[in-house]
This record gives sequence, structure tokens and C-alpha cells, in this order.
Amino acid sequence: KQSRHQGLTLSLQFVPYGNKQKLLLTRDVTRFERIQAMRRDFVANVSHELRTPLTVIGGFLETLSDESHSDPETRKWALMLMTDQTMRMQHLVEDLLALSQLEDTENLVRQENVDVPEMLRQLYDEAQSLSAGRHRIKLGIDAAAKLLGNTAELRSAFSNLISNAIRYTTCGGDITLNWTVRDGQGVFSVQDSGIGIEPEHIPRLTERFYRVDRGRSRETGGTGLGLAIVKHVLTCHQARLEISSEPGKGSCFSAWFPPARLIVGKDG
Ligand code: ADP
Repeated sequence: KQSRHQGLTLSLQFVPYGNKQKLLLTRDVTRFERIQAMRRDFVANVSHELRTPLTVIGGFLETLSDESHSDPETRKWALMLMTDQTMRMQHLVEDLLALSQLEDTENLVRQENVDVPEMLRQLYDEAQSLSAGRHRIKLGIDAAAKLLGNTAELRSAFSNLISNAIRYTTCGGDITLNWTVRDGQGVFSVQDSGIGIEPEHIPRLTERFYRVDRGRSRETGGTGLGLAIVKHVLTCHQARLEISSEPGKGSCFSAWFPPARLIVGKDG
């Protein structure tokens, strides 16, 4: 008999003992220790992410409170940088909250008919305004199929993939959003002609706070949690994330939804 408590597996079994049997109780702590290590890493990462902006803000506050730095240009510059750092902390807290809410409702995805084509038309408009004319963005809707799932969660996952494509593609690049049905599965993909990713990083991208280039991620307002959120949402929908990329050429992130999640109408 096996029982699980906080990642700890307890097994109870009868084993032969001479001509009798004895009861053996074993405790597998491997998983427990792995979870503890992940927790420690997570807290260390969050602390580090918050410490940097707090140090910057603290430093500027000190500068501003010094009367000899009353020059309006210096004040303006300091206030602008402090606003940036505050926004960075706000994004981080929002992403952390989103992740913890997702974990709370794991396997409890509210079932709704999600109109993916309509959602993508809205996300396309948002992408256009986020890109502000710096990229050529295309939208391909090859299927009218809807999805059985949670609208808010799917929207946040798709929007994370789109904002990554914008953030990791330089001016003048191409970004294509697509919704189609392939082999009975619903596929949402975001293809970009951006900086691409070296193959050795791909398996780790959905880990919390994993970034290929920390500097670039920060510069573009990244928290390092976007793909962890995407992965979580997709897992709750029994969907999988496929990532293909070529450094210097671009990347394609596709979410594959199983046939059981697809609602295909007459024209779907
Ligand atoms: P971040 O906030 O750093 O973008 P994510 O979890 O969304 O965090 O992504 C993790 C890392 O994956 C990023 O830091 C970046 O290095 C890489 N990445 C994600 N999307 C792309 C993309 N479209 N092109 C190139 N690299 C990407």
C-alpha cells in the first residue's frame, strides 16, 4: 500500500521473513528533497529579482534627498528610472500571483467554450499596438474550431507567447500568429524571425526564471516567468508546447490541444 503526503511517498508492504512475513515501512524522500530544493531556489530567485530594483530605487532616493542634487534634469532622470524599476517589480508580482493562482486551481480548469478565432483577433490588435509598427505581424485563422477550456488562462498563455515574439524580434522582423486543426488537434502557433535560441537552452525555457540572456530579458521588461505560466496553463488543458528555433533565424512556439478539447462546428 502506498500513500503520499507533501511529496513524500510512504510504502507499506509484507516481505517474507523465514517462514513468516514481516511488515516493512519505507519512506522515499527523493521527491521530497527535490521539491525542497526547488522551493529554496524559487525563494532565492524571487529575492534576487526584488533586491535589484529595490537597491536602485534606494540609491536614487538617497540622491534625491541630498539638497545638492536639486538640478531638475537629474531629478527627472532619477524619477524616470525609479518608475521603470517600480514597473518591473509590479510585473514580477503580477506574474507570481498568476502562477500561484494557477497552481491553486490545478486540474480544476473551468470548462467554457473558448472562441479562439475571436480571441486571436483581439490579441492581434493588442500585438499591433505593443509592436508600435516595429514588426510585420500577420494573423492566419485556418479553422473556426473553438476550445473547451478557461478563457482567461488561455488568453494569458497566448498573450505571453506573442509578447515574447515581439520582445525577441528586432525592428522590421516578421511575426505570424496561426490557429489551425492538424491531425485532429488544435494548434496555436507564434512564429517569429527573431534572435532564435541555441538548442541546449530549449528544454529549460519553461523553468521559472530561466533566461537565455538575463540582460535582454530585463531590458525588454521580462520577468522570466512567462513560459512557466504558459507551460502550466497548457498542462492544465492537457496540451503540449512545442518549441523549434534556429539562432539568428527565429523561433516557433506551438501549443497542441488534444481532440477532446476541440469543438468543431459545421465550418470548423
Ligand atoms: P522572459 O520574461 O525572460 O521573456 P520567459 O519565461 O517568457 O521569460 O522566456 C524565457 C526565456 O526564453 C527568455 O528569457 C528568452 O531567453 C527565451 N525566449 C522566449 N521566447 C523567445 C522567442 N520568441 N525568441 C527567442 N527567445 C525567446
